[in-house]
Amino acid sequence: MADSDVDAVIVGAGFAGLYMLHRLRGLGFSAQVVEAGGGVGGTWYWNRYPGARCDVESIQYSYQFSDELQQEWEWSERYAAQPEILRYAEHVAERFDLHRDIRFDTRVTLAAFDDSARRWVIDTEVGDRLRATWCIMATGCLSASNIPNFEGRDSFTGATYHTGHWPHEGVDFSGQRVGVIGTGSSAIQSIPIIAEQAEHLTVFQRTPNYAIPAHNAPWDPEVLRQAKANYPEMRARARRMPNGIAFRLNTQSALEATPEERRREYEARWREGGLTFLGAYGDLILNAEANATAAEFVRGKIREIVQDPEIAETLLPSNVIGCKRLCVDTDYYKTFNRRNVTLVDLNKAPIEAITPDGVRAGGVEHGFDAIVFATGFDAMTGALLKIDIRGVGGVPLREKWDSGPRTYLGLATAGFPNLFMVTGPGSPSVLTNMLPSIEQHVDWIADCLAHMRANGIARVEARTDAEDDWVAHVNEVAGFSLRSTCSSWYVGANVPGKPRVFMPYIGGFPAYVDRCDAVAANGYEGFALSA
Ligand code: NAP
Repeated sequence: MADSDVDAVIVGAGFAGLYMLHRLRGLGFSAQVVEAGGGVGGTWYWNRYPGARCDVESIQYSYQFSDELQQEWEWSERYAAQPEILRYAEHVAERFDLHRDIRFDTRVTLAAFDDSARRWVIDTEVGDRLRATWCIMATGCLSASNIPNFEGRDSFTGATYHTGHWPHEGVDFSGQRVGVIGTGSSAIQSIPIIAEQAEHLTVFQRTPNYAIPAHNAPWDPEVLRQAKANYPEMRARARRMPNGIAFRLNTQSALEATPEERRREYEARWREGGLTFLGAYGDLILNAEANATAAEFVRGKIREIVQDPEIAETLLPSNVIGCKRLCVDTDYYKTFNRRNVTLVDLNKAPIEAITPDGVRAGGVEHGFDAIVFATGFDAMTGALLKIDIRGVGGVPLREKWDSGPRTYLGLATAGFPNLFMVTGPGSPSVLTNMLPSIEQHVDWIADCLAHMRANGIARVEARTDAEDDWVAHVNEVAGFSLRSTCSSWYVGANVPGKPRVFMPYIGGFPAYVDRCDAVAANGYEGFALSA
């Protein structure tokens, strides 16, 4: 592939990269997207495991920048499945003629700032070299997969899969003995489907998880019609919500309600399904006592659904509900009533090794034809740090972030001029509906580039003092929430050796957007701009 020189290189052709390209083109900038995958869609290109589905309702997990697009696209289900979301991403790429500026099957290996030329030099695995004024990382928050380094990991002679890198042709587990390691969102979505196919399924659980039923169903055409008629109002409502999702948020304290009122409220939310469960009371994620009432309600549901009391007991989560990302399921707990499903509690029988025949846990050999690693991602920083990113003086980002990510607004990092991140660490990103968060970041970056061009500014760089203040603020607000209290991927606890830092900004989408807007309105306060 030829070398090229453009205004901006965008790394990643997921929802962030696609919209970034569209915006920059609209402003008359030249831009080149570089994408490791063979198609657009990012997370939805890779995560093709059975049951993969978004846990934000489809009518909200979609772009709003084009009213024509949001009016013409017909979502079929309340929670869109991966194939439909991928079709949507492909439709967007075609509709806005984006393919011609995307290099597929091209992984970026190096992005280095050449201070004398004031340009980014970007190298790829296939030997391309690109040069650009701006480098924009649209690499996703959950895209670097994590397979723990179990002893003998590569010795297994059967098939292995990671949920985040699923074969495009799909996998038929019929007649197979399958082991699934992990019980996070990806496992919880795929386990019921794998259990239906497999001869026998063994689930290895380290931490039991809370899952709320999705009650997924095809959209009622009338509900969809009304949603489309009221899109501006719904989007505006979402913009005012802490998680960027228009949903019913009760601001009352759970502790002000009587036990009977609480039971009715939780029951109603359980029937409604999905992430809205945590909107039952305003303090569920702030107050441990309030949280315990919701947690106990879900534990009661698990005891009701799972017939074998011992298995039910093993499935009961004991940590704060919502501390790890809440899961949304279809028949997850019920799956453990099947005779072909075994649950292994890794706290009693830890995995000792992956063997040629399967998994040895607690001294017991489990023989498998296939092992599914549903073991998650090196979240938020993993995809960025896989690339050798070097700033002023050749300083590696890996070195700068040795003790955890440091950014200003999750958009930029000091010492790395003209480099932007879409939904980087220190932004609300994964705590919100990703699509509006992506659009907000992309718009902010596009406006910044237009401002630079209009004002003859060649270089923009986060100032260290602004970054320090922002990092301190991100940490401070994290401490107010129960979310920072458990060993989740939000704090990097799932990757051995990763510094324990609460990475996303938990101060809420509205406060964050206001802050970004104010920074721009004040002449990009906190950034050093130079001609
Ligand atoms: P995850 O939530 O990080 O879950 C990974 C699972 O693997 C956990 O159960 C974890 O146990 C287990 N695990 C990790 N290392 C292990 C080890 N060494 N030994 C035994 N078990 C181990 O990953 P995920 O399920 O892929 O989900 C990641 C995120 O992606 C979600 O939280 C969500 O934000 C997003 N996602 C969303 C959807 C959706 O929209 N519905 C679907 C899938 C994913 P521990 O809990 O003990 O660490």
